[in-house]
Amino acid sequence: MEKACLTFLPNVSLLKPNDVLGQSACPFCQLTALEKILLEEGDALWVENKYRTLEETYQTVLIESKAHDFNLAYCSLEKLKDLLEFIFACWEKLAADSRFSSTLFLKNYGPWSGASLRHSHSQLVALKKWDVTKQADPIHFAGLDLYQGEGVSATLSTQPIMGYTELNISFEPKGSVEELAELLQALVIFILNQQADRKEGSYNLFGWRYLDHYQFKLVPRYIDSAYFVGFGIAQVFPMDKLEKMAEDIRSHYLKELLNRQ
Ligand SMILES: [Zn+2]
Repeated sequence: MEKACLTFLPNVSLLKPNDVLGQSACPFCQLTALEKILLEEGDALWVENKYRTLEETYQTVLIESKAHDFNLAYCSLEKLKDLLEFIFACWEKLAADSRFSSTLFLKNYGPWSGASLRHSHSQLVALKKWDVTKQADPIHFAGLDLYQGEGVSATLSTQPIMGYTELNISFEPKGSVEELAELLQALVIFILNQQADRKEGSYNLFGWRYLDHYQFKLVPRYIDSAYFVGFGIAQVFPMDKLEKMAEDIRSHYLKELLNRQ
């Protein structure tokens, strides 16, 4: 199978506002300046991305809240549940468009994640030519069990894409979005706590849409490993450390969820 390669347009990227590295006002706080609102629900908005940097794609942005300092790691679980329901509704709309081969979800958080704006947002992108699920190997979503609910589950990767700590969440439509919200928030807090010695934590949340479920991957971001960049070789912690980490996540971060099972 031909490997996906997207054409990136640097001239468009130069126009993008940036309040992480550069100096610019937050475009998501000036909602009148937005080009096209696709859907609005409560506090969240789905809009076309004004800066379409990738050829043969349709790039959209999910503004997770109108509040500039909104953070899904610390928001109420009710708000996060509403937000996840909104994301799934937008995602399904995009996936129903027959012009595209596949859709992906992406969230950048923090200076090492590739984020250019601090205002909490995510992206839904439709690809004309590539099927992102065919580019993914399910082995990267498997690992040590962290949580097994009805239609909601999580693992700690034993074969990560890049390394070292990758957390995977699988969600089937029959699952409870409330449970997903609680699980996601707990795992995001774990990732940020791992980086507590840094000024600002960074992570990516990646999402794939399969026919019967959504697959998410939560990855803390540092400077990328040279072994991965050059050789495509992932790195993982020894199994005893991974098992200890999984136990720490279960007993500290997922304690309440697991106690209710
Ligand atoms: Zn803002």
